[in-house]
Amino acid sequence: MIQDIEPRKFKNVYKNKKAESQDLFLAYQGDAVLVKEDKEKLWYPSFSDFEKDYPNLIDEAQFLFTIDEINYYLVKTSGLDSVSGWTYVTTGRFRAEEKYWRSFAGAVGAQLNRWYDNHRFCSRCGKEMISSAKERMLYCKACGFQTYPTIAPCVIVGVYDEDRLLLTKYSGRAYKNFALIAGFVEIGESLEEAVHREVMEEVGLKVKNLTFYKSQPWPFSDTVLAGFFAQLEGNNTIKIQEDELALGVWMEREDVPPDELKISLTGEMMDAFRNKKYF
Ligand SMILES: [Zn+2]
Repeated sequence: MIQDIEPRKFKNVYKNKKAESQDLFLAYQGDAVLVKEDKEKLWYPSFSDFEKDYPNLIDEAQFLFTIDEINYYLVKTSGLDSVSGWTYVTTGRFRAEEKYWRSFAGAVGAQLNRWYDNHRFCSRCGKEMISSAKERMLYCKACGFQTYPTIAPCVIVGVYDEDRLLLTKYSGRAYKNFALIAGFVEIGESLEEAVHREVMEEVGLKVKNLTFYKSQPWPFSDTVLAGFFAQLEGNNTIKIQEDELALGVWMEREDVPPDELKISLTGEMMDAFRNKKYF
């Protein structure tokens, strides 16, 4: 999955550390990130790459995370593609390409960038928010309001009935491949309750014997996904929720499409079922 970047190690423990010239930075323009494309790979800039044209860039850097011993910072200056060789590429392509640790870094950076952008002002009193020196937290001096990065929990459900897995296709979304049942957890609801509710809402089926599979941070939608397998209970007639889904089908184990990108929990769960690793 996208977060499995071994042997590299991602650490997001907050550091109150001034950037140095060898540190890397992520700079976003809308949903695009600054990179150099070389040898079919993406490279992120270091402050030394921009020292000549943007000598003050290092002063505005906000610490993001480390991968191995390399520190990543966020900068807000735009138009950095004016420096020869550098260009902005959309972070959406990170989920359409094969698994690659720099894609994970760019997507997580984009999530943090969105969080900083969306919390520039206090949602209680409207004054400017200030970055804490101790932790990844923004606070308001005027009223004391504090806010931490927001992550929404979601469930993904592999509903099975003996040798068949329930696959869906979303309606009205760019993503056209087969998927599993998925949805946001509501306030006041457990993950298990969300599984039962989403399966009933999306395809009108009852399930039992829920088994937790794995979880996954999914930076593209500010979510953390919890994957469950669940066994069909009773009637197997699918009634799809038409505003959500274009298709819902029972697929024989050997016909479940293989996971080529190795990025998503959905893909890994479909592979696990196909290869009889589970059930
Ligand atoms: Zn305030």
